[in-house]
Amino acid sequence: EIMVNNIHKSFGAMQVLKGTSLSVKSGEVVALIGRSGSGKSTMLRCINGLETIDSGSITVAGHTLDGNPKHLRALRTDVGIVFQSYNLFPHLTVGENIMLAPSIVKKVKRTEARKAAEEALKLVGLSEKFDAYPDMLSGGQQQRVAIARSLAMQPRVMLFDEVTSALDPELTQEVLTVMETLARKGMTMVLVTHEMGFARRVANTTVFMHQGKIWETGPSQDLFANPKTPEMRQFLSADV
Ligand code: ATP
Ligand code: MG
Repeated sequence: EIMVNNIHKSFGAMQVLKGTSLSVKSGEVVALIGRSGSGKSTMLRCINGLETIDSGSITVAGHTLDGNPKHLRALRTDVGIVFQSYNLFPHLTVGENIMLAPSIVKKVKRTEARKAAEEALKLVGLSEKFDAYPDMLSGGQQQRVAIARSLAMQPRVMLFDEVTSALDPELTQEVLTVMETLARKGMTMVLVTHEMGFARRVANTTVFMHQGKIWETGPSQDLFANPKTPEMRQFLSADV
C-alpha cells in the first residue's frame, strides 16, 4: 500500500532524509520511532505529499507522487494524517468539523456526509458529541474527533504523528484505544510514537530511524526484544 523508495530530502544545507526506503503492506501497522530530529515527521509528511522530495519515489494507495497535482490530490484523498495538535475549527460543531472535508473535497451530498460523520464518530466512541463544540471537549476527545474527521474521508491509509504527545496519561490511553481499534479493523497505518509499549504490542513492524536513515526494522516483538545496533539500544534505554 505504501512504497517509499530511496528518498532524499534536505532543508537548505541540512540533509534530513538520506536514502530512506519503507514498504507497508495493506492492513499493516508500522511504528516509526527514533530520537528527536531523526526525520520521523518529515518522513510522514513526504508520504502524503506535504513535503516534496529531492530524489527517490513514493507511491501510496496506487498514487505516485510525480509532481502532477492531480496525482497529489488523489493521494491526499486516500491518505489521512493526524497531528499532535488537532486543529478543529472552534466555531463549528464536532459534526460540522467532520463533514467539512467530505463535503468540499469529495463533494458528497449532505445526507451522505452526515452518515459518514456519524459512523466515524461512533468508531471513536463519541456518538453523543455530534452537536458539541470542540472547546466543550477534553483534549483526548478533541483528538478522537480529529481522527474521526480523517476517517470520514474513508482513507486507505492513516498516518499519525505523535497524536498523544500533548495529552495527559489517562487521555492518551483513550486515543491509543481508538488507534488499536482501527488497527484491528485492518487499517493500513504508519504511526510516529513515543509509546513504546503500544508500538511493541500493536504495530506489526517497528522502524527505528536514526540520522535520517532506517537504522533497524523488523517485527515489533523481535525488534524490542533484541535490538541489534548500539544506537537503538541506547534509544530504548534512554528515558524519552
Ligand atoms: P521529533 O521527535 O522532535 O518530532 P522528528 O524525528 O519528527 O523529531 P523531523 O521533524 O522530521 O524530526 O525533523 C528532522 C530535522 O529536519 C530536524 O533537524 C528539523 O529541525 C529539520 N526540519 C524539519 N522540518 C523543517 C523545515 N520545514 N525547515 C527546515 N528544517 C526542518
Ligand atoms: Mg516529529
